[in-house]
Amino acid sequence: MPSHAEAPPLPEPLRVPVADSHTHLDMQSGTVEESLAKAASVGVTTVVQVGCDVNGSRWAAQTAAEYDAVHATVALHPNEAPRIVHGDPDGWSRQGARQPGGDAALDEALAEIDRLAALPQVKGVGETGLDYFRTGPEGKAAQERSFRAHIEIAKRHGKALVIHDRDAHTDVLRILKEEGAPDRTVFHCYSGDAAMAELCADAGYFMSFAGNMTFKNAQPLRDALAVAPLELVLVETDAPFLTPSPYRGRPNAPYLIPVTVRAMAAVRGIDEDALATSISANTARAFDY
Ligand SMILES: [Zn+2]
Ligand SMILES: [Zn+2]
Repeated sequence: MPSHAEAPPLPEPLRVPVADSHTHLDMQSGTVEESLAKAASVGVTTVVQVGCDVNGSRWAAQTAAEYDAVHATVALHPNEAPRIVHGDPDGWSRQGARQPGGDAALDEALAEIDRLAALPQVKGVGETGLDYFRTGPEGKAAQERSFRAHIEIAKRHGKALVIHDRDAHTDVLRILKEEGAPDRTVFHCYSGDAAMAELCADAGYFMSFAGNMTFKNAQPLRDALAVAPLELVLVETDAPFLTPSPYRGRPNAPYLIPVTVRAMAAVRGIDEDALATSISANTARAFDY
């Protein structure tokens, strides 16, 4: 849903550089060079490029190999896994209707993710997890099987696990516990409340906040941010999605990270440089770069 509205203006640069811990450059307009240059000009000097399907994961790995400022993660998105098994011509990433491939097709796709996860520039496995918003009950089994497989891949390669959790908090936390979470697990676009943030903190999970924490109706997210241990807090754009206020409806990109960092600093009641220093160290620790 990249918007065709005008791109928001450059925010004032951060004095302490940070990383965008989750972005999709392949869904944004402009070249990779342009995106990275624009981001770096406001202090966003590193981005984590996230793969959502086999082709997107290959692209992420290739792009991270070409650019020092880019790290990759690879995965089949929670909405992609059921589509591989059952087919879904109305799905979100459709490039023409896909034929149902059954469990064998999912295994084949997972084998490619496994191969990519071994590459040195691939720092994480994800985004994986559960999405009960877009995937209905018929897709649940495939989604869960894929999630469990991604956890296993992340652990075997010693990579971070990047979680996509939409309307599925209880089951995501339960499956992580059942499988045993990797040492470094990141809840991307953290969407839980303060109570869940306490559970994540106890488990040592990183919580990555996106532009939606600036939205008027997002008080539960701000409450979660207020109680999350500072050393587990990350920031991301999830661009082209989730453009922060006051730019909702316009295209998001990594250069807008300072807008969210400033909103987060206000919630925490700390100086923006102190928050950026912490986020910068946390992201490097989370993805081991
Ligand atoms: Zn996601
Ligand atoms: Zn994403």
